[in-house]
Amino acid sequence: MSALSKDTTDKWLYGSTLPYAEAPWARGCPSPYYKDSHRRLRDAMRKWVETNLVPFVQDWEQSASLPDGLWLKAGKDGILMPMGAGATIPQSWRDEFPIIGNVSADEWDGFHDFILHDEFGRVGGVGVEIGLVGGITLAIPAIQRFGSAHLKERVIPEVLQGRSRIALAITEPDAGSDVAGLQTEAKVSEDGKHFIINGQKKWISSGTYANLFLTLVKEVDGSFTLLVVPRQQGLTTRHITVSGSTTAGTAFVDFDDVKVPVDMVVGQRGQGFKYVVSNFNHERLFISMQALRCSRVCLEDSIQYALSRHTFGKVLVDHAVVRYKFANMSREVEALQSWLESLIYQLHNLSPAEAEFLLAGTTAQLKAHAGIVLQHVAGDAIQILGGIGLTRGGRGERVERIWRDVKALTVPGGSEEIMLDLAVRRAVKAHKDIEKSRILKERL
Ligand SMILES: Cc1cc2nc3c(=O)[nH]c(=O)nc-3n(C[C@H](O)[C@H](O)[C@H](O)COP(=O)(O)OP(=O)(O)OC[C@H]3O[C@@H](n4cnc5c(N)ncnc54)[C@H](O)[C@@H]3O)c2cc1C
Repeated sequence: MSALSKDTTDKWLYGSTLPYAEAPWARGCPSPYYKDSHRRLRDAMRKWVETNLVPFVQDWEQSASLPDGLWLKAGKDGILMPMGAGATIPQSWRDEFPIIGNVSADEWDGFHDFILHDEFGRVGGVGVEIGLVGGITLAIPAIQRFGSAHLKERVIPEVLQGRSRIALAITEPDAGSDVAGLQTEAKVSEDGKHFIINGQKKWISSGTYANLFLTLVKEVDGSFTLLVVPRQQGLTTRHITVSGSTTAGTAFVDFDDVKVPVDMVVGQRGQGFKYVVSNFNHERLFISMQALRCSRVCLEDSIQYALSRHTFGKVLVDHAVVRYKFANMSREVEALQSWLESLIYQLHNLSPAEAEFLLAGTTAQLKAHAGIVLQHVAGDAIQILGGIGLTRGGRGERVERIWRDVKALTVPGGSEEIMLDLAVRRAVKAHKDIEKSRILKERL
């Protein structure tokens, strides 16, 4: 018999009872972070994923594409807008777009955002999520924050309703981590009404699906401008086969004398770099969320296998060496969950400027850490699953797919080495800045 009371069971028990398959707040352990609206959202999102994604992932993987109707469905069911919003629903979006789980815009916070990404991750791997909503999460925030009224009206409703698809196009064949090296050029036409764009972007998620590209270009004076480029003559995309994320629509994007009206610029010309960077923290945060759920799925599926598979006269989990592996995998996953939750709480309770000052480095470090955890946990899960873990389809399907996606979480969004370095540089800077303010205060 369980020692859990009815109150605890009703409030804090949800989903699978397999060890570590669910986060602590679903295993009977109270949490200060989650309220009724979070529970509603989790339930609605889980059902949505299990109904609309899970049964079809294998087929989509094989065809390397997502069906056209999926964006409209996700828009209508209230998934696209919250994905574009992140931790706060902008005022002008309230009552304009539905929210899944009957959650109100006032209730929405960073933990709701976390639940969306977390539940998406139960598909196993990130290809479907990146293909469907990667462009929204990466591109829409900059347009919403810095775009003109005209641009927002032109782009946002159609994307959040699933009638259009957007991708963020920064990286180029010769400029990845070092964004400042990009060469795609934009020249203003003689009549001053258009930009003429030439160049190439590489590894653009959702690129094969997109009809809008939020593109960072270099102007003649060497400054960087961000603008929305509609798919048209002269803009072509080609699918890039990467090791995992088969359904992510990863693409080369070629621009050959592509003509774009100047009113498609986001904010001010020459300020594009600043606008792009403004969303990096949220990108790193949600990549950490994806890595966490992928790690949990690896634990869930390998433990389930170890509870039923017999070797040398014992069920696998009865071998101490196998339990030792689970102990280390779960230790890392549970610590990652706690760090992530405390960071979401801190972000929620600081002003944007304070959060940037104190937590941009921490967010980068968390992103790197989450990838390191996933790499270890996915590797050990495959070891425990044996041949099943290397086989596409069947009981090891999710883990096998996640394994192919590990590096798609540790390279994009800021490579591990760069993230770790950034974390320490930011920590040193915060120390120096705070000390300087203290000295100035003492002198006054
Ligand atoms: C699956 C996938 C999806 C992507 N989606 C998008 C997208 O939607 N839009 C977009 O614009 N881009 C996208 N990218 C591009 C991604 O942002 C870049 O791959 C990333 O910035 C790294 O750039 P790079 O691949 O050119 O590696 P490079 O910049 O060539 O770096 C290679 C490696 O060198 C190391 N390194 C580099 N600099 C340093 C340093 N200063 N210190 C220590 N080590 C260093 C790192 O290990 C790094 O991984 C995607 C990439 C992938 C693989």
